Parts: sequence; structure tokens; C-alpha cells
Amino acid sequence: MKIKSKKITCPGCGADLRYEAGMLRCHYCSYKEQFSQPPYALRYKPLQRFTPTLQKKEYSCVSCGAEFSSDAAATLCPYCKTALLGEFLEKPKPLAVIPFKLTHKEALQRLHQHIKNLWFAPSAFVKEYKRASQLEGYYLPLFLFATKVFVRYTGERGEVYYVQTTRYINGRARVVNERRVRWYPASGSVDLSFRDLQEVVIKDEYVRHKFTLQEAKEFDERFLSGFVTKEYQIDSLLAFERAKAQTIARIEMAIRADIGGDLQRIHHYTREYYDEEMEYLLAPMYRLSIEWRGEKYDYRIDGVNGKVEGERPYSWLKILLFAIFIASLIAGALYLFERFSN
Ligand SMILES: [Zn+2]
Ligand SMILES: [Zn+2]
Repeated sequence: MKIKSKKITCPGCGADLRYEAGMLRCHYCSYKEQFSQPPYALRYKPLQRFTPTLQKKEYSCVSCGAEFSSDAAATLCPYCKTALLGEFLEKPKPLAVIPFKLTHKEALQRLHQHIKNLWFAPSAFVKEYKRASQLEGYYLPLFLFATKVFVRYTGERGEVYYVQTTRYINGRARVVNERRVRWYPASGSVDLSFRDLQEVVIKDEYVRHKFTLQEAKEFDERFLSGFVTKEYQIDSLLAFERAKAQTIARIEMAIRADIGGDLQRIHHYTREYYDEEMEYLLAPMYRLSIEWRGEKYDYRIDGVNGKVEGERPYSWLKILLFAIFIASLIAGALYLFERFSN
């Protein structure tokens, strides 16, 4: 579908302004202007089914005239790199944005530091990665869910007790306390509520990440200038099904607390979710892919706190050398121990 796109024009030189840590900035003439938006207070709405249409957007670049298609609601022209603001085609649109706090440069520094600090990373990989440093900033579609859940369970409560028994140790009789557990049937129900369950809703990729929700601001397209902005690509009810997985650990903890006693066994439980609500916002993440020896390594850097995540290659040679080093330390210690203990 053809969409309208535009750029935020620099009053100084006519180039594009980009959002960078609290301001709009021109990278040609150093013009800058501060701007901010009020904090966004989460205002959950009842969960509804929203199905993405996944339409491609046909862009026509306002700077160079190039035409290209993309699924992004804001992006960079692939030819002249102008920051373009497009349109959101999916309904609903996001109401809030967690703006980038880290600049590209700061994010790269975080990544450099991270890779430098990796234990056992092959040196050749570290070099290759430095050459590749093409970092891109993305706003990812983020659904938040709030829900209550009513849980019925059956299980057992274990109570520890001790009995005195006689044991023979080295031929001598000793009275010892032996630990035993008595099990009692247990059943009941717990009622829990969850908020701010985060699901990144893009296809073909599972990004599990906790964004800093307190930094959310009222939606303003100026935040998007210079970043690739994705719309949601997963049905809201499917995303909610996925979010339920995040509730399991706390549900089981609550069941154990309810059973009480010293030990607990959970045999079976049912969950009834109700009062489900949702929110839709955009969340900032820098990404970098590195191809190394035929494998792809993806790094993600949180656009607010700079936390780095990603798989990494291991150098088996370094691990082997380290293992030999540790083994020799142990052998040395044993030798000294043998020698001085006699
Ligand atoms: Zn300018
Ligand atoms: Zn262009």
C-alpha cells in the first residue's frame, strides 16, 4: 500500500532532524532543538482481539525520490539514509513510546565493552566485530498485559519430623536423629493478579526482554525520526497466550505458600484468567548482527539502560588452556598438601 512519508526538516540546512537523547538534531549543521513529552501513565484497556493485517508499505523518499517497500512505520531511506516518518496502518496505534536514551555512539561503546569483557571469546571474532559495527536502532512493538488468575490445586503438604535411632559407626552404637517426612493431602485455591507482562510482538523471532516502562512518554512521532519502527505483527490473543507463560513461576510459588508445611508437592492445578487488559507501546532497542565463520551472531542493546544481550562464540582453544591452567593449580595444591601434611 502506498503511504505518505515525510521528514522533519532542519531549519538551518534542510537536512533531516533525528531524535537523539532528548532532542532533535541535525547531523550536518549541528542545529538542535530540545523537546519532551509528558510521562505516560499506563492506562490498561480490556483485552480485545487485534489481528495484524501485515500490509507492506510503499515508501517514496522525500529526499532522493527512491521507492521501496518496508513493513516499518518509520525508517531510513535505504539509498540516501534520510530519516523518514511513514504511517501506522494497523489498528490500534501505539499510545506511548519509550524513547531512546542512549545515542548510537553510547550503545556502541556498551557493546565494545561487553565484547571485550567476554571470557573465552575468540580474538579473531572480536576483531571482526569491530569492523562490522553497523548498529541500528529499532522501536519494537510491545504489548503489556495485566490479568487476574484464579487457581485451584491439589497436592500434598510435607511435615518433617525426627526419630531417634541407633546406628553403628565404626563398631560403636550411637543414637542419632533421623529426618523423616509425613505427607498430608492438600487442596485449595489462590487468586493472583499480574501487571506489566511484556511481550515483544514481532514475527519470526522471539525477543524476551524487560523494558524500562517508567520511561514511557505520550506518543509523538518525533521520537521515531532516525529509527526503524515496527508495528505489531502478532494477534493480541496469541500474544496473551504467550504472556501466560510468564505467570507460571509465581503461580506455583503461591500454591506452595498456600499448602504450607515444610515441603510441598503439586499434583495438579487449573488456571482461570479473568479481567485481562492490555496496552500497546513502542520500545527502543539497538541491534547488530555479525557474520562470523558462517554463523550469525545477534546482539541487542536496551535503548534506555544499555544492557547487552546476545549469543557469543566460544574459543575452544582458550577454554582448553584455561582448563589446563586450573588442573595444574589443583595438582600443585595437592602436591603441596601431600608434602607438608606429613
Ligand atoms: Zn541542519
Ligand atoms: Zn532517499
